[in-house]
Amino acid sequence: MHRFYVPPDRIIGDRVSFQPDQRRQIRDVLRLRPGDLVAVLDGSGREYMARIEILDEKRSLGRILEITAPATEPHVRLTLVQGLPKGEKIGLILQKCTEIGVAEFLIVETARSVPRIPRGRMPGRLERWQAIVREAAEQSGRTSLPAINGVVPLACALSRTRSCDARIMAWEEEKGPSLSSLLPSLAGAREIAYFIGPEGGFTSEEVAAARAEGITPVSLGPRILRTETAAIVGAALIIYSLERQLAEDDRP
Ligand code: SAH
Repeated sequence: MHRFYVPPDRIIGDRVSFQPDQRRQIRDVLRLRPGDLVAVLDGSGREYMARIEILDEKRSLGRILEITAPATEPHVRLTLVQGLPKGEKIGLILQKCTEIGVAEFLIVETARSVPRIPRGRMPGRLERWQAIVREAAEQSGRTSLPAINGVVPLACALSRTRSCDARIMAWEEEKGPSLSSLLPSLAGAREIAYFIGPEGGFTSEEVAAARAEGITPVSLGPRILRTETAAIVGAALIIYSLERQLAEDDRP
């Protein structure tokens, strides 16, 4: 069944009205018709099964038949603190990490960030990023929509993530602790921040600033991963291992 994310105010009683771009998608691309069923999400943790009742050039209305609460959200709230990469890579990171279960993207500008987004371009860029996250959330059945924040300086991200139970910085020059050695100590953590540098990596000053905050840099192994690979792989390892720990704790 096709899934659609709508802002909560589009659900009134047992009626849902779709956004104009969704109406076009439902009608002209997917060629659904009144009577067809779709799934609707509103970020509340619920999923609604709705039957399309009205679908024309101006209106699209569905009637909610059933409400469920699928357990697709991770228990851990993972914030990916991502150094702004070049070009379209951020799109890939947003898409894959939404599928994996990241709760928030905090995009940071670091000393070695190459692109600087001019202020005037930010609203358009943010809109595009949000569309990518929304689509990935629909596709993967997320019942809450990851937030995109930033672009902020790294120092700002360091102070904003202080309330997390654990903060992890992936540093390619770290020869000591590895992410995998850290994972068991994350059991029970509710909020985690995971820092990834841009293509150029973090400078030693940035790593020192993180250390001063009590953040231990970790290695992801002997090979250098591209920034998007490090984001996707690390997020998956953290969420997967915490979900597995939880499932094992639940076993009688
Ligand atoms: N400029 C660096 C590579 C940076 S990779 C160089 O060429 O040497 C981009 C980011 O991915 C890094 O800042 C780090 O956060 C993460 N990363 C990539 N490979 C890693 C590894 N083996 N261990 C830890 N972090 C890694």
